Amino acid sequence: MLGLMQDWPLLIHRVIDHAASQFGVQEVVSRSIEGPTHRTTYSAVRARALKVAQRLARDGIREGDRVATLAWNTWRHLESWYGITGIGAVYHTVNPRLFPEQIAWIVNHAADRVVMTDLTFVPLLEALADKLPTVERYVVFTDAAHMPATKLKNAVAYEDWLDETDGDFRWASIDERSAAGLCYTSGTTGHPKGVLYSHRSNVLHSMSLCNPDGLALASRGVILPVVPLFHANSWSIAFSAPMMGSKLVMPGMKLDGASLYQMMEEEKVTMAAGVPTVWLMLLQYMEKEKKRLSTVKRMVIGGSACPRAMIVAFERDHGIEVFHAWGMTEMSPVGSFGAVKAQFADLTGEALYDLKMKQGFAMFGVDMKITDDSGKRLPWDGKTFGRLKVSGFAVTRGYYGLEDQNILDDEGFFDTGDVATIDAAGYMQITDRSKDVIKSGGEWISSIDLENLAVGHPDVAEAAVIGVAHPRWDERPLLIVVAKEGRPVDRDSVLKFMEGKIAKWWMPDDVQVVGEIPHTATGKINKLRLREDFRDYHFPGA
Ligand code: ADP
Repeated sequence: MLGLMQDWPLLIHRVIDHAASQFGVQEVVSRSIEGPTHRTTYSAVRARALKVAQRLARDGIREGDRVATLAWNTWRHLESWYGITGIGAVYHTVNPRLFPEQIAWIVNHAADRVVMTDLTFVPLLEALADKLPTVERYVVFTDAAHMPATKLKNAVAYEDWLDETDGDFRWASIDERSAAGLCYTSGTTGHPKGVLYSHRSNVLHSMSLCNPDGLALASRGVILPVVPLFHANSWSIAFSAPMMGSKLVMPGMKLDGASLYQMMEEEKVTMAAGVPTVWLMLLQYMEKEKKRLSTVKRMVIGGSACPRAMIVAFERDHGIEVFHAWGMTEMSPVGSFGAVKAQFADLTGEALYDLKMKQGFAMFGVDMKITDDSGKRLPWDGKTFGRLKVSGFAVTRGYYGLEDQNILDDEGFFDTGDVATIDAAGYMQITDRSKDVIKSGGEWISSIDLENLAVGHPDVAEAAVIGVAHPRWDERPLLIVVAKEGRPVDRDSVLKFMEGKIAKWWMPDDVQVVGEIPHTATGKINKLRLREDFRDYHFPGA
């Protein structure tokens, strides 16, 4: 017997409808690409998203068509997502930090019909346009006054394009399982792979994440997503902030420490979310300028492991609570969140930081397990590590265009490619990406643990550990560090600092000091590049 409740499809437009009707006056503040700070409201975002939908429909865009966005976090980018999904089309977020050839590859793979972009990326697209045969039109997120002369096909300024509509439009009525968003993984090996979110998965994932032991969004909160809309579905914030009516502060293209600090202070931001590299820049700026954030209460950090030194700096020195989160593009993207469960409420000091170093526990809608190579489940004892696998309503079951390949195990779980432990209380801790873990004499060494420890050294700004071939041990860890500005650092002092804090056989065999550590398009340490850079390196005496 079926229940007698209404069939109310979980469509993305419901989110902006709710935001407009309940939090219509709530602000969305952006640093515009043209320069000045721009202010709008959820009610205006909805009204303009309806125009985007109407205008796309007039351009012949239909349900299921892909519309690329290659843009920073601004109100226009946000409006475009709701407009695109509002006619049943699919927003395809393109990461501008990818190599131009990769951008061309994914636009062609997705067969995008329209590209919506910022002024910043017009030259990039002009250079690529010949290689993008599926694109029929380029919409530049600006007004007539700032629109550059360009040969891009059917190029139009977004504001002019919108002005050709009256906004009298109805959202498409479609199946909640319809595709809504497409985001390609970075593809460190091989071609990038497309993850195709549905309306339902986006709505459920956002509902799950905005709760008190998650992002804890509320209408009295002010959230600044540094995490870009173009990476990993913006950690749901493009949906969860309007859903809960939080004021949304979008930093545009200025992500340096000084610009973020200024925006956080001016807009009284209470919560921010981003990857550790961004917060490293902010902390360095505040340390140098002797500044403190006066309104921020919560910092959500994820995308790569948050070093202990960063947790301590925010919590102890700035009085800001840190939440360490883990996830991946394939999970919409958040899988676990580092809130403190009731049984740990009394933890303080180092014991609390120990807990916060873990990547948290699975949120509702995510089932987790760790297994050995044969697929056998491993115990949740906080010590045994294995392959981390997940299933849930917002976890992918296949890649776009590769639907015939089964990527799930026989229990329906997706292998994340991460190696992790899970403790008795359910807290998961990433040991490493399986391809980054260092295999020494048949045992594993976590590069993340070594990096975390090394950045605790007072003169080290950033650290990366890679495995380097060793004649006897197969692989041994090489530590690569960047010194803090004006604070020279040497091999021996780093090794001395690490001694006694880890097992002896985990100690790096050498330390190399470099001017800069390469990062990926998503702001993570680029280990592939590092491994290439150090291809000819040999350990002293090995
Ligand atoms: P990309 O390959 O572009 O970085 P993702 O953002 O999807 O794509 O990366 C997901 C991966 O990032 C995870 O599988 C994991 O290895 C790593 N990761 C994400 N969050 C954390 C975290 N808090 N700690 C350690 N690793 C993390």
